Amino acid sequence: NLDTTNLLVTGGGGFIGSALVEMLLARPGVRVLNLDKVTYAANPEALKRFAREPNYGFARGDICDRPLVERLLAEFRPQGLIHLAAESHVDRSIDDAAGFLQTNIMGTHALLEASLAYWRGLAGSEKEAFRFLHVSTDEVYGSLGPRGLFREDSPYLPNSPYSASKASSDLLVRAWQRTYGLPTITCHASNNYGPRQFPEKLIPLMIIKAQNGEALPVYGKGDNVRDWMHVSDHARGLLMAMERGQIGQTYNLGGGVELNNLELVQRICRMLDQELAGSRRGPHEELITFVPDRPGHDQRYALDIGKARAELGWSPQVEFDQGLADTVRWYLDNRAWWERIQKERYDGVRLGLA
Ligand code: NAD
Repeated sequence: NLDTTNLLVTGGGGFIGSALVEMLLARPGVRVLNLDKVTYAANPEALKRFAREPNYGFARGDICDRPLVERLLAEFRPQGLIHLAAESHVDRSIDDAAGFLQTNIMGTHALLEASLAYWRGLAGSEKEAFRFLHVSTDEVYGSLGPRGLFREDSPYLPNSPYSASKASSDLLVRAWQRTYGLPTITCHASNNYGPRQFPEKLIPLMIIKAQNGEALPVYGKGDNVRDWMHVSDHARGLLMAMERGQIGQTYNLGGGVELNNLELVQRICRMLDQELAGSRRGPHEELITFVPDRPGHDQRYALDIGKARAELGWSPQVEFDQGLADTVRWYLDNRAWWERIQKERYDGVRLGLA
């Protein structure tokens, strides 16, 4: 029961973490301590907004810093930990994997060790209630052909440095549960979308470039398929896993909306044609440009969410076209938000917005 509880969240300044923290702070009895390094991917506006909330605390720091994590656990005495901090962008991992291995693998190791020591020091109902929820991705399962779905027992076949680092962290979490008994749960999510996603990710990248009249770079033939889930559905699923998940189990959380990249970009273009009627001579689709494929590009991801449905009572609720239209609208209405990122902090290379 999460109604009166202290939760340590890592990566609460990121896209999904900030949606989750917002949801947690709406529950009156919950106190959140957010441990975040505030990398390029963090959202300073969200961090500022949270800072005004009485039930929120912030520690700027690195999950790899085990003494720091130990101190935070000892002082805050949480009933659970939700671990979202990660290096998360596949293209960056292809350019330089070192930071991904450090944060995603060594950082998860530091959190597991600190949590184990803390959990061992708890007693009675506090010890029984504690959960370590690890947030992972469907990308650890590799790539699907045209048919079939990833299940929780699908083999691990990661193909990118990012997914290999996440797979490694999942295996550490599993081992700390099996070997030491740490009460862990792992969730695998499909591609998230929604407002406040960092502009290097596919959906915001396309919205921003299209409204600027710039070319829309689509990898390969645009036929790679992703399963899209609204970030609020993901955050709700994580809380349900925290409340109802079984120790040592893993749960797939997916949106059940499969689209190939070209179809997705075309949908965004049609929405912009309506929203920005008259701002271009032709339809936004004319801006689509095919670029050489990403190395090791997974063909298709799709998740079987039957276990989360049955055991957590969770299912995605945001209807995709509505969620996408709201997201497009959000980026149109919040130009200052992403322009500041472009001007001040964006250091992306591969699909650069500059
Ligand atoms: P994000 O890149 O938007 O945010 C990551 C956050 O972690 C940032 O606030 C950053 O400052 C923080 N961080 C990074 N390194 C850190 C470190 N060493 N110590 C402390 N904080 C650090 O990521 P996101 O898209 O919100 O993803 C959150 C989690 O969900 C990740 O674990 C990711 O692998 C997973 N996930 C994401 C998606 C998706 O579609 N975005 C899908 C499935 C799973």
